[in-house]
Amino acid sequence: MPATDKTAAVQNQDGPDAAAEARDAEAPVFAVVVAPHPDDAEIGAGGVIARLTRQGLPVAVLDLTNGEPTPMGSVPVRMEESRRAAQLLGLARRVTLDLPNRYLQDTVSARQEVAGWYRRWRPRVLFLPYWEDAHPDHLAACRLGEAARFYAKFTHTDLPGEPHWIPKVFYYFSCHWNLVEPAALVVDISAVWPVKLAAVQAYASQFNAVRGNLDFLDRLGTRAAYWGQLIQSQYGEPLASREPVGVKDLSAVL
Ligand SMILES: [Zn+2]
Repeated sequence: MPATDKTAAVQNQDGPDAAAEARDAEAPVFAVVVAPHPDDAEIGAGGVIARLTRQGLPVAVLDLTNGEPTPMGSVPVRMEESRRAAQLLGLARRVTLDLPNRYLQDTVSARQEVAGWYRRWRPRVLFLPYWEDAHPDHLAACRLGEAARFYAKFTHTDLPGEPHWIPKVFYYFSCHWNLVEPAALVVDISAVWPVKLAAVQAYASQFNAVRGNLDFLDRLGTRAAYWGQLIQSQYGEPLASREPVGVKDLSAVL
């Protein structure tokens, strides 16, 4: 069962079953996706996440804020939507921090909090929001997520767990600039496109006819189809990288 909030991830330490659950809640994962708001991980990396979880690889989403207030949302509604999306994607963990929506900042204390989750979960790959965005929260999430990666390897610190360096970072696109994504690679998400779409649609408070923004879902499909046809598939999801992306075997890209 996915841990759906910070409390759920650190509680349940009474009795053998509860202790096992608590240990499991902090077991290593393959990937961590850091999101400024609940729905960004789904919008930008929902396909990649669904592919990984269907390969049996555990994925955690760390939402830095609860995303509220919004015109038609509320904290309980948004949390329920994020739980539903987590189920659809098959997340192993989902934790929502209480950092401030709209005013998210890359502070030392926020870096320490995020680094603590990296050290608990010990992922091999990290997904962050793309490094350029019109939304200040998204920019802050990128900077904060990168700085926390560095903090997570510190020794002689009060941070929980053992030092951990996440070897690989990719950047997903849930971006408020209208740009052609500078993709370093494109993942074929054709087989899981319906899962990604359903996970985004789980946020009914964010995308609905009353707000008049259901065309966002159409545009999401158009973008995914654009990237898909570039790799001779139906749907694709672009990822950026600050570093060259290496492959051990060239046949992996054929
Ligand atoms: Zn956002």
